[in-house]
Amino acid sequence: MSDGHQPNPKSARAIIIAVDGPAASGKGTIARALAAHFDLPHMDTGALYRAVALNLWRWGGDPASEFEAVRACEDIGSNWDDPELRSEPVSKIASRVSAYPAVREALIERQRAFASQAGGAVLDGRDIGTIIAPAADVKLFVTASPRVRANRRVRELLERGMPAHFDEVLSDLARRDERDMKREVAPLAPAADSILLDTSDWSVAEAVAAAIERVQARLEGAE
Ligand code: C5P
Repeated sequence: MSDGHQPNPKSARAIIIAVDGPAASGKGTIARALAAHFDLPHMDTGALYRAVALNLWRWGGDPASEFEAVRACEDIGSNWDDPELRSEPVSKIASRVSAYPAVREALIERQRAFASQAGGAVLDGRDIGTIIAPAADVKLFVTASPRVRANRRVRELLERGMPAHFDEVLSDLARRDERDMKREVAPLAPAADSILLDTSDWSVAEAVAAAIERVQARLEGAE
């Protein structure tokens, strides 16, 4: 998370880019690359929900309790660099606590403030284009097939030295997708004016190049 970013003096106006999509779709990589390309600060909003989940997990709190999950929203700032933030147990709890309206409410201001800072911003998550920054200049909705996403997630976990089994990861992703898409508050869904990017058959470099090209085109009014 790159707080304290100086706005780009070359930017004629503040640009807000919203990047949404399901887990392991490539949205985080794309969002970071867009932030670097357009010289904008970036917020990975999934990290906020993960930090809440990590707090709850460490305290031995109950993910079935909305009350305890809300308490876990306090003091999440010390967790960003914790390797457990990306672990499977934390992913599962994050997916559960993010369905609680009071948890989303507790995190919304921080995200909106980041989105509306001078100079603009790139945010990635599930509800950026729909709830956090509905007036974003460009909205991307990044997808990939479940098997491709599960493969990417397995590789990422193994690279971090964490255990990973394809079938388990695939079924966990399916459960998280279902929970994210079916929850009542801020469900995962493309905004009506979003650009869809299916990264299933692309390398990272191809996905990033396509995203930059589409964002540039939208900013120039060509899309
Ligand atoms: O993006 P990532 O997989 O790290 O997000 C972790 C969890 O946080 C997701 O499973 C999702 O349920 C939740 N989330 C959310 N809204 C966001 C970002 C993440 O509900 N804007």
